[in-house]
Amino acid sequence: MDNASTSSPVSVAIIGSGPAGYTAAIYAARAGLDVVLYQGLQPGGQLTTTTEVENFPGYPEGALGSQMMVDFQTQAQRFGTDIRNATVTAVNFSCYPFQLTIDTTTTVEAKTVIIATGASAKWLGLESEKRLNGRGVSACATCDGFFFRGQDVAVVGGGDTAAEEALHLSKICNKVYVLVRSDKMRASHIMQQRLISKPNVSIFFNTGIEEILGDQEVEGVRLFDKRSQTSFELLLQGFFVAIGHQPNTALFAPYITLDNKGYIQTTPGSTKTNIPGVFAAGDVQDSIYRQAITAAGTGCMAALDAERFLATEG
Ligand code: FAD
Repeated sequence: MDNASTSSPVSVAIIGSGPAGYTAAIYAARAGLDVVLYQGLQPGGQLTTTTEVENFPGYPEGALGSQMMVDFQTQAQRFGTDIRNATVTAVNFSCYPFQLTIDTTTTVEAKTVIIATGASAKWLGLESEKRLNGRGVSACATCDGFFFRGQDVAVVGGGDTAAEEALHLSKICNKVYVLVRSDKMRASHIMQQRLISKPNVSIFFNTGIEEILGDQEVEGVRLFDKRSQTSFELLLQGFFVAIGHQPNTALFAPYITLDNKGYIQTTPGSTKTNIPGVFAAGDVQDSIYRQAITAAGTGCMAALDAERFLATEG
């Protein structure tokens, strides 16, 4: 029997177990609220897919992403968070208390809900990309660029994100190749100008990715020039995919206002969504920063927002 399915509604239901969800849980449970957290299909979230995390304060020597998320979970449990290895498969935000369906079978009632379901990077879908993920293949230059300082890297993508990632890498790396599928970039004119002005950046247009080369780690990439219809190879150590992210918001779309990229819209300076009592934290509402520390920061804000809501309206 699912304890959280008993008749009295839980004060705070948190959907997601990344840095945002666990931080929200730490704050809400420490405030004396009864809190249940649903981990979803990826307990610990995106950081469990990486190796070393060097930019989260409090870990001067760095830490393995998976170990860091065990630490987050342990801290949330310490204050009494009820952590469930389960997935929220439906929500009903048109009634109050809100209703969550867990693993398609159980219905749980909650006075407040914190959505912390994160976002997933889009990938090219190559076998070599999967095999070398974390061994030179990454979807986050801010996170992993430093590991390639002084080396040669490629960024795939033609939008603003790809341009930003390439600019970031141009300050750290020896050489940055920007690989664009079509004959022009979608990035803003100013971003393109900045890229062009960098002596260590080369942009390849009309370029397809055939295979990332390397056995144990990235050693190069085989490309396809669509104009000459020929393949060619580049030697490099880092391969950054910057073709966009997909926020995990499908479940909430019937109720929650999303922006034009599908991210949850929150009131500026808070984690409030358009539904009073429903809050959003982390990458699910952040298409810009997408870092563990910012996710944790908004997780904290969501817990405080939920606490205030319960004090006044719950
Ligand atoms: P996520 O970590 O994405 O977690 C989302 C959670 O929601 C998951 O637990 C998932 O199971 C759960 N979920 C989704 N749907 C449901 C559902 N229906 N029901 C229940 N649960 C659900 N950031 C840094 O600061 N430093 C780094 O070095 C760094 N390296 C990275 C390396 C890689 C390879 C990647 C992909 C990201 C990296 N990041 C790094 C970014 C960082 O991981 C994210 O910004 C951060 O994890 C976002 O946290 P979040 O809590 O918003 O969501």
